[in-house]
This record gives sequence, C-alpha cells and structure tokens, in this order.
Amino acid sequence: MISDKMKGFVKSSSIIRAMFEEGKRLAGIYGAENVYDFSLGNPSVEPPVQIKEALIEVLNEENPNLVHGYMNNSGYEDVREKIAGSLNKRFDTNFSMNNIIMTVGAAGGLNVIFKSLLNPGDEVITFAPFFGEYRNYVGNYDAVLVEVAPNVEDFQPNLDEFEDKITEKTKAVIINSPNNPTGVVYSEATIKSLADILSRKEKEYNTSIYLISDEPYRELVYDGLEVPYLTKYYKNTIVGYSYSKSLSLPGERIGYLVIPDEVDGSEDIIAASNVATRILGFVNAPSLMQRAVSRCLDVSVDIELYNRNRELLYNNLISYGYECVKPQGAFYLFVKALEEDDKKFAEAAKKHNILLVPGSSFGCAGYVRIAYCVDYHMIERSLPGFKELAKEYGLASDS
Ligand code: PLP
Repeated sequence: MISDKMKGFVKSSSIIRAMFEEGKRLAGIYGAENVYDFSLGNPSVEPPVQIKEALIEVLNEENPNLVHGYMNNSGYEDVREKIAGSLNKRFDTNFSMNNIIMTVGAAGGLNVIFKSLLNPGDEVITFAPFFGEYRNYVGNYDAVLVEVAPNVEDFQPNLDEFEDKITEKTKAVIINSPNNPTGVVYSEATIKSLADILSRKEKEYNTSIYLISDEPYRELVYDGLEVPYLTKYYKNTIVGYSYSKSLSLPGERIGYLVIPDEVDGSEDIIAASNVATRILGFVNAPSLMQRAVSRCLDVSVDIELYNRNRELLYNNLISYGYECVKPQGAFYLFVKALEEDDKKFAEAAKKHNILLVPGSSFGCAGYVRIAYCVDYHMIERSLPGFKELAKEYGLASDS
C-alpha cells in the first residue's frame, strides 16, 4: 500500500490527469485538429537555434568525461560563474559563483530551497491565483501553504490581507511574476510595499522571512516591460529561475537558485541547498544542459510568436464579451468564467472541444486559465467555439 501522505497527493493530481485523458478521448472522436487543448503550459515556440548549436559544440569541443560526469552537487563552477556574471551585468547585482546553485528546473529548485528552509508546521504565504504545485512542494516538507485571497481588480497582490496573515510561524513567502495563471507582472510599487511589510514584520517577530521569487517567465514579457529584480528590494530574497520557458526546454530540467550573501544565514542555506540537491536524489542538475545553457545566457525564445497569440486571443475574447486582464507576460490568459462555478464552465467549454483549466486549481474559483502557448492556427480555429460558448451565456450576439 502507498503511504497515507501520497494518497492525498495522488487524489489531488487526478484533475490534471483526467483533463489529459479527456483531450486524447476527444481527439479520437473529432480528430486532433478539431480539439482545442489550452490546458498545458508546454511551450509551442521552438528552442532558439543557438541551443542546438551549443549542444553540438559542447559535444564536439569539450572533454566527454567532464560533460557527462558527476560534479559538485551545486553544479559546474564555471557555469555558475558565468551565470553570476550575466546577472550582475543585467541587474547590477554582485553575485559570485557561490550564490548560484544549478537545479532540476524551477520545480527542483523550489523543492531544494523548501527542504533547506522548512520545519514541519512552518507557514509559507502565497498570493492567489498561484501555480497549484506550490501546495505539493510545501506539503512535501509538512509545512503549511497560507493563501492570500485574489485581488480580481488587477491581480496585483492583496497586501492588506497579506500583512494580516504574517505570523511568527511565517518562514517564507513565494511569489511568481510574470504570473501563472494571470500573465500579470507585479509592479515596482507592489514589490516595494511588499518588501516594507516584510521588513516590518521581521522586526516585529524577530524572525527571518524569506521571499522566494519563482520566475520561470522572467524573459517572457510584452511591450518592453521591465520585471523588477527582487534581490534589490528586499534583503532576504532567494530567486528560483528556470530555462523551461525562456529557452523552451521544459523536458530538459534545467534552472538555478540565487542565494545572495545578504540573506540571513546565507552560508548555511547555500550549504543546505547543496546537500538537499544530493539527498533529494537529484545529485546535480543535468550536466549537458548546464554546459549548453551557459553558452546561451543572452538568448531567449522569440517572444513575438507568443505576442501574436496573445493579441489574437485577447482581442477576440474581449469582442465576444469575455472579461480578462490583458497579460503583460508569460503565455496565459485568466478569463472570468461566464457562470459562478468554474468547473461547470470548463465543462461547457468542453462541449465546443475547448479544454481549459478551472481557476480553482490556482486557488481562484470563478475563472479559467487559457494557455496560449499553442499553434496560432489552432487559436484561429477555436474562435468560433469561444463565440458560440459566449452566446450560450447571452453574450456575443451577431447584431
Ligand atoms: N513555477 C511556475 C509558476 C510554473 O508555471 C512552472 C511550470 O509551469 C514551474 C514553476 C515549474 O517549472 P519547471 O519546468 O522549470 O520545473
């Protein structure tokens, strides 16, 4: 028999699995081209050509035992040095290789940092809507995820409620901007206020509260928007980065953590993260990918391809009467469901072969997420279905 704890995890992951199965079932009946699966955040834009070239160069030019061998659990030193240098150039920071831990994507990085920081019963605060896996990552270490209710006006964090929810048990706060599922970028004003609150509460409780910035979508922003680099705003900031989306490499499992020297107990946290990487069974981040991405630090996918999808989908949905905040980054639209029950609305969409994820999976009922990291023509083909769906709810009349 599986463990009691795993029973809970298995049960809660069945929604996503069921959706995947449903997509396959519908494709079997109607043909894959007539099913509009917007459920997955799997990048549709190809990895930049530089990645393929870098992989070939690494394999042709570097010592095979080094390329495929074990290394320091924190990753290759020259790779970490290059990443630190690149961050310093871009964000005017002062990191060295010691501050960088290579990870198995953002998911691996978050598990490493949570394992390093959390005692059972510790609280981790996050802002709804949030990436649903946070529940599991925090649950892995028997800590408690505390949700701050969504601010549906603009999906910037609700800072009053946040302040009220900080207790002496608050060990960490995890934020994600550009955000999955809303595409919203937290403004500099928001970040400054959040940092002020955290500093005040650290003094009040005489604790350290770590701000974990989960930022796999940092490079995916539109209209030249700047995403604030959080270590500059709050001393106890730890950054989790991933190349899954910026280089379209989610299956390759590569990213890194930044643990700055200014962070309280940084030496211990860096050492703990090194050990956590080992004992969680990662041992190290994939070696070939470490070497390849270190040659592509200034490269990212062609954001214009996602931008075309964003404009097409957003403009049409708004014209049919749907309500949605225009995403500033990532590749998701978070649309108000046309009835209160988001799961029922997702079921209604399915009748038009449109697969959406209910907002309750992200801690925000009454909405649905549309992942538009899909083929442009699939979006075009799906639009009549979205229009019909709106008509069923009394919107999008043809007059
Ligand atoms: N954090 C957020 C907000 C995400 O959306 C995702 C993936 O979709 C992850 C973390 C996990 O990313 P990775 O593939 O790098 O583990």
